[in-house]
Amino acid sequence: MKVNPNHSSNPTDPDVYHDHNDCVSGAQIPASNKVSGTGGYRKCDHCKDLD
Ligand SMILES: [Zn+2]
Repeated sequence: MKVNPNHSSNPTDPDVYHDHNDCVSGAQIPASNKVSGTGGYRKCDHCKDLD
């Protein structure tokens, strides 16, 4: 399902944002690292596939 853009605050994570809550990559971001918004990053490839 589509959700508001979010990304990880962890600098070792890929510089992408997610906008699907069933993205396998986005699901690996712990809630404590999740930041709302795109962060100025490009969209994650998994989320592109889910569009
Ligand atoms: Zn994603």
